[in-house]
Amino acid sequence: MVVWKSPHPDLDIPTDLTAWQWAFEHPQHAPTAYTTRDDLGSYVNAQTKERLDFADVKEKATHLSTALICDYGFQPQDTVSLFSTNSIWYPVAMWATVRAGGRVNGASPAYNVEEMAFALKTASTKVLFTLPESLDVAVTAAVKSGLHKSQIFLLEGHREGYKNIHDLVALGQKHYTPAPWSVPVGKTNKDICGFLNFSSGTTGLPKAVMISHHNIIAQCHQLRQLQVVSPGQRYRILAVMPLYHVTGLVRFCCYPVFMNGDSIMMPAFNMEKMLQAIISYEIEELILVPPILIRVVRDPMVQKYMPDLRRIVKRWSSGSAPIAPEIIQLLRQKFPSTGFRQGYGATESTACISCHPPAFYDYKYAHTGGLPCANTSIKVLSLDDPTKELGSNETGEICAQGPQITMGYLDNPVATAETFKDGFLHTGDVGFVDEQGLIHVEDRIKEMIKVKGQQVAPAELEDLLLGHEMVEDCAVLGIQDTYAGERPKAYVVLKQDVAVDEAVGRALLEFVKARKARYKWLVEVEFCGAIPKSPTGKLLRRVLKVRDREG
Ligand code: AMP
Repeated sequence: MVVWKSPHPDLDIPTDLTAWQWAFEHPQHAPTAYTTRDDLGSYVNAQTKERLDFADVKEKATHLSTALICDYGFQPQDTVSLFSTNSIWYPVAMWATVRAGGRVNGASPAYNVEEMAFALKTASTKVLFTLPESLDVAVTAAVKSGLHKSQIFLLEGHREGYKNIHDLVALGQKHYTPAPWSVPVGKTNKDICGFLNFSSGTTGLPKAVMISHHNIIAQCHQLRQLQVVSPGQRYRILAVMPLYHVTGLVRFCCYPVFMNGDSIMMPAFNMEKMLQAIISYEIEELILVPPILIRVVRDPMVQKYMPDLRRIVKRWSSGSAPIAPEIIQLLRQKFPSTGFRQGYGATESTACISCHPPAFYDYKYAHTGGLPCANTSIKVLSLDDPTKELGSNETGEICAQGPQITMGYLDNPVATAETFKDGFLHTGDVGFVDEQGLIHVEDRIKEMIKVKGQQVAPAELEDLLLGHEMVEDCAVLGIQDTYAGERPKAYVVLKQDVAVDEAVGRALLEFVKARKARYKWLVEVEFCGAIPKSPTGKLLRRVLKVRDREG
């Protein structure tokens, strides 16, 4: 068997603790247990400077979980959905849910009513937290999915008829506080789902990935083993990427507590505000996605902040999608004294399968996905014969095993069995492992399209287009886009009585625009006579992709 083991020393990861006990109660792991109030890390709003240190978070999350249990009948394994932009109150609601033994589900704030209703149903949501600006979508989606309005609360702000997080904290304070939920006798934290994050995985519609308490704890231990913080500095991270994505969940909500660091939250992405926040909070390492790094090297605005950025930033980190070699090159030229690293992984692996350890921060390794995290093994399977394991420098499907590999998809045993088999996650990514053990990601065989690091499931757009009166058949695939990485394009077979016409193409683009979040909008519609299918009727997406590349 050809398996690459992580070169890092094995880590001893607790199996008996919930993520709450580990983050807030354990004498060695929880900063609230081992440090003074003055030295505690925090969640900070980058704009308003509002700050919640981890003792505040612990106290408020405790009262909030009490209110959910005592006043709203919340039970272990019930789901709380968080439908919000980045907010320091997001992790408070998250930790309250974890304390109560529930499951936290992050939903993109870009979702419209239909998308949100689908999310609420898929995650079996019992309680929903949102912001005033998303309340109308949240309420209409809740009604559609059978969630009662009385189970909807605000993370921030006020709206007549709705309680906010402060009201719930006050309600919780009136009760005797129940003990934090703990791992039941006979089970370990590997068996208990604490988080549900959406991913379309290899094929089909978005599914809720079940992330266990163990997965989250393991990933934080794996990341800490490779962390560099300048002497005398507190760990500080700028939460630019969304909290609902697994990277945001781990990097900006959970890991800062474990590191007793500060997570500086940007409520919305804005290039200039991001640059200003890097400088005013002295952020040494940035965790970004390729489209933002493209702006860092190309946006003329950056020039104004260059001296400070060069002085402060020590490392750029990229993940979620491939980054073009010319962007890496430009970054190196503009910031010659910085290091660079990538994180490679997926929602199904609680973020990182691999990343660059400090010895590999050099730009010469930047095009790779780094080395497998501790306790992680990799194998590469032949694309022609998936029973065949490949050796160094041979390209195939990347498969990973480790404590961060998740439990599977909620209520979807078929997709779970297809993706999690023989003890490995089959990533649907194509690449190889070189002689140094570095992972190279070259392509994707799974259907997923990545637009600015966000997932778009072709099946979702195909289902929509097939419901249009003029469409007989269709297929959606991702085409290269310099800035976004990829954008969805539709191949469409029109019904017999519909003539091919530019106006029809425009109508279909508008049809999708009216019904899907912006990042899912089609960039192009191309008409064709037939969609390539196998004899069993399976869409041959790769044939279409090759046809598209060859023009
Ligand atoms: P998500 O579940 O949204 O994190 O998406 C996971 C997918 O993003 C992976 O299976 C890859 O296809 C892609 N991806 C993540 N990190 C990288 C990376 N560093 N380089 C290339 N592709 C990546």
